[in-house]
Amino acid sequence: MGFVADNILQLKKKLPDTVTLVAVSKTKPVELINEAYQAGQYDFGENYVQELLQKYVHLPKDILWHFIGHLQSNKVKYIAPFVHLIHGVDSFKLLKEINKQAIKNNRIINCLIQIHIAREETKFGMNENELLQMLSSADFNELKNIKISGIMGMASNTSDENTIRKEFAYLSKLFHSVKNRFASTHNLDFTILSMGMSSDWEIALQEGSNMIRIGSSIFGKRHYTHI
Ligand SMILES: *Cc1c(COP(=O)(O)O)cnc(C)c1O
Repeated sequence: MGFVADNILQLKKKLPDTVTLVAVSKTKPVELINEAYQAGQYDFGENYVQELLQKYVHLPKDILWHFIGHLQSNKVKYIAPFVHLIHGVDSFKLLKEINKQAIKNNRIINCLIQIHIAREETKFGMNENELLQMLSSADFNELKNIKISGIMGMASNTSDENTIRKEFAYLSKLFHSVKNRFASTHNLDFTILSMGMSSDWEIALQEGSNMIRIGSSIFGKRHYTHI
């Protein structure tokens, strides 16, 4: 067995059935993705549209592709025919474009709203007020071909566990309050709380995450030069 399959099996042993593992394969070749697939891994995460498209054509069609990067509105059309879940939705403008492309493809596209929880200003995402305002608006109510399945967040890049835990706890609390408050909204069905990466997934699980996005712990360190 190769190291990728081995890492996946080891990791899955530690995860409850209720948690979805998204294997983040950005910058990694199709051979390694195939190895993961052979080991029973079907959910994969990619950050770049061009790279995802190249991989999509070469890999089995029952793979569930998660787009976890920062998505530009003008690129939505390329992934709309097949993407399983878009994690990084951070504006109403982007959501409207996803809805438009979903209509063209006669499908409903599942989305997560990215919430900014980290200290770093460079990270993307809405804040709580922006989220609540958007979900309450008449414009949002008109989007019939998207479904908001939950929220996603990235904790600060720090070794301070307390900071990470506080950020995840905040996101978890927001998830549950929105789930209750908007329970009867037709295009919202909060089931997914996507938080946790290689360095912090254990804390994320303790704080209620049910979807973790793991890259380097499965595929090894990334080298960005070849993309
Ligand atoms: C790259 C990436 C990951 C995976 O990061 P690792 O630290 O390698 O596990 C998870 N989520 C997002 C949004 C990413 O961009």
